[in-house]
Amino acid sequence: MLKKLIAAAATTTALLASGSLLAADFPDRTVTMVIPFAAGGPTDTIARIVAQTMAKSLKQPVVVENATGAGGTLSAGKVKRAEPDGYTLLLHHNGMATSPAMYRKLAFNPLTDFEYVGQVADVPMVLVARKDLPPNNLKELIDYVKANKSKLTMGNAGLGAVSHQCGMLFLSAIGTPLTTVPYKGTAPAMNDLLGGTIDLLCDQTTSTTSHIRAGKVKVYGATTKARVASLPNIPTLAEQGMNGFEMYVWHGLYAPKGTPKPVIAKLGAALREALADPNVKSKFADLGAETVPAEKATPEGLQAHLKAEIDKWGPIYKKAGAFAD
Ligand code: ASP
Repeated sequence: MLKKLIAAAATTTALLASGSLLAADFPDRTVTMVIPFAAGGPTDTIARIVAQTMAKSLKQPVVVENATGAGGTLSAGKVKRAEPDGYTLLLHHNGMATSPAMYRKLAFNPLTDFEYVGQVADVPMVLVARKDLPPNNLKELIDYVKANKSKLTMGNAGLGAVSHQCGMLFLSAIGTPLTTVPYKGTAPAMNDLLGGTIDLLCDQTTSTTSHIRAGKVKVYGATTKARVASLPNIPTLAEQGMNGFEMYVWHGLYAPKGTPKPVIAKLGAALREALADPNVKSKFADLGAETVPAEKATPEGLQAHLKAEIDKWGPIYKKAGAFAD
């Protein structure tokens, strides 16, 4: 009898250690998806569509929490410190790979502090301006920016946000720095652009599409290699002479390091199911975004992409000297 009890206890300990017991019931309560930027913005939009659909397969609510600040880097630090049980996740974009090159002190290491669930979606960006900015095309805009550089402002979501990176690439390509205004996300930046308080913004199509269609902003070009399928009349920056200008926003879903593998597997299955959902695909497509294929929505797919992006952008931003403590 005693032997049997000892054997049972040993099995339970082994199962707990491997995470199998935890995974058997997972999830039995609400899962929180932390995102780095303000509600109503592009990252928030992607996260809410994915979270709502993942909730269906997980049979538990998945709530989005906006943990803003420091160009999105505070959110990753927060999730790194969370219990590694699968109930706290992070949905982040390119900033996960580029922030280490931009912040001297960072509370997390993207390569060692997280488990990877998978890539989520790719989103193009567009360069937009307040509706009444005089220039009517990219060439006119470049001349206008050069002539009015002391007066114009460009919004972004903080150092390390993609709006910041895109703005920096554009302004350095035309050799003209402008005053930049950081916000907690591009949702509040867009409000100020619509209100005419700032002049320019580089933002994802997930947030800009409705304003472009309604004629509430001026648009000067897409940041992608090819035109955005849902906005076919908007030329790319590259085709208008900014050779090689290419930037798109990729997203990954992360969990704190040590989250049991079987829990990650359940989350990954729910993610892939959400991305294959026709409703999600069509919502994304209308916003210019694209869900990633199933093989990228895996731990290996995300890890490999993150590593490649760190290798690609790290030296560029280090050289550009865009730093914060
Ligand atoms: N993703 C945006 C950026 O990095 C911010 C946001 O989602 O609000 O600029």
